[in-house]
Amino acid sequence: MITEDFEQGQIRPPDEADSLLIRTTRGCPWNRCTFCTLYKGIKFSIRSVAEIKKDILTAQKVYNERKVERCFLQDGDSFTMKTHDLVEILHALKEAFPSIKQISSYGRAQTMLRKSPTEIKEIGDAGLNVLYCGMESGSDEVLKKVRKGVTAEALLASSINAKNAGMDILLFTILGLGGKELTQSHADDTARLINLIDPAVVRILSLAVNPGTALDTMVQEGTFTMLSEVEMIKEQQMIVNQLDGIHSKYVNYHAVNLLTELRGQLPQDKINLLSTIGRFMALSYEDQLNFIFGRRRGYYSHLDDMQQRDRYALISIEMNKYQEKYPGQLEAFFHACRRSWI
Ligand code: SF4
Repeated sequence: MITEDFEQGQIRPPDEADSLLIRTTRGCPWNRCTFCTLYKGIKFSIRSVAEIKKDILTAQKVYNERKVERCFLQDGDSFTMKTHDLVEILHALKEAFPSIKQISSYGRAQTMLRKSPTEIKEIGDAGLNVLYCGMESGSDEVLKKVRKGVTAEALLASSINAKNAGMDILLFTILGLGGKELTQSHADDTARLINLIDPAVVRILSLAVNPGTALDTMVQEGTFTMLSEVEMIKEQQMIVNQLDGIHSKYVNYHAVNLLTELRGQLPQDKINLLSTIGRFMALSYEDQLNFIFGRRRGYYSHLDDMQQRDRYALISIEMNKYQEKYPGQLEAFFHACRRSWI
C-alpha cells in the first residue's frame, strides 16, 4: 500500500514482488474456474481512467526520483478496459515513470479476442509488453471440465495476437488438472499448444484442491481423481518429452512443485530437464516417498539433498512414524502440504 487513498489489489504474480502495482480492474470477470480461489467475494469492476490516473500520480509522488522499471496492472484482466482507456493509462504510466521497461497484466483469451489484432497491437505499442496467460491446459476436454471458459483454439488465437503486438507471453500450466481421467490428453494437448504458441516462458504449477471449490466437490463425488505426486511427475515427463521447436524458458519456480530444479532454456536444456525427471523416476518407490516427504516437510530442496544420508535416515524415521499413526494417508498429507503453499 502506497498511501491510504491509493487502491491496491491483493494478488500479483510472484515475479512482480518488486513491481509497482497499479489496479485497473477489481476481481476476475469470469470467476468460474472450478479450481480457483482467487478474487472470491470481489464483484468484478473496471476502474475509471480518472481513478487509475490519480493512483499513478500518487505513486509518482511517493516514488519521487526512484527508478521504476516494472509495473503490473491488477487485477484479473486489464483487457476488459476499452482499448483507448487502457492505452491512455499506459501512456500516463510511461509519462510518470520514464524509466519503465516492463508493463504486464493478466489477460483472458476470451476477452482479448473481443479486440481486433490492431487494437491488441495498439496496446502493445503503448507499452504493455508482458502478458500473463493462465492457459492451464491445452486440452479442450480438461478446459471444459474445469470450466475455464476458453478453448485451446481461443488460447492460440489470442496468443498469436499478443505476440504479433510485441508482448512476451508467460504461460501457466497446472500439472494434474485433468485428474487421472484425462492425464494423457492433458499432457499431449498441453505440449501441442505450448509448441504452437512458443511462449517466452512456460511456468509449471502443481494442482492442489482447495476446500469449498467446485473441484473439491467433484473429488468428493468421485468425478475427479487426483494424481499422486509421482503421477504428476510422469505427466510432466510426457509434456517435456513432446516439447519441440520452441524457444521458451521452462520453469518450476513455485514451491508447490516437487522438482523445483526443473528449470531451463528450451530447446537446449530439454535433455537436462528429462534427465532430472528420469533421475526421480528411476528411484525406488521407497526413495521416491522419502524425497517427497522430505520436500513437503521442507527438509529437502533438491534431489541432490538425498545424498546426505543422515538427513535421509531422519526423514525415513519421521515418515515411518507418520505412516504408523496415519496408515494410507501419505498422499493426502502431501496434498495438504501443497495446499498450504498456494
Ligand atoms: S480466469 Fe483465472 S482468476 Fe478467473 S476464475 Fe479462472 S483461474 Fe481464477
